[in-house]
Amino acid sequence: MIPLTPPATTTPELTSVLTCPFCQHAQAEQMPTEACQWFYECTSCGTVLKPLAGDCCVFCSYGTVPCPPIQIQGRGGCCSAN
Ligand SMILES: [Zn+2]
Repeated sequence: MIPLTPPATTTPELTSVLTCPFCQHAQAEQMPTEACQWFYECTSCGTVLKPLAGDCCVFCSYGTVPCPPIQIQGRGGCCSAN
């Protein structure tokens, strides 16, 4: 028997650690699978983070893991990409 290779479609990681660019506070957050999160308020300093230019959501800009649509479909697969 030839061992089966894992399927190409992987289960996206749904927890991303957001790092605030102002106070460097890191906070693990659950990502929504059906929508992009554009705004995130830092739990430490209260700064409202917004995506950087070219990024679809705060997780892509500040998180350790990009949002689920990006993980599955790659850059451009997100709902806001057009
Ligand atoms: Zn902060």
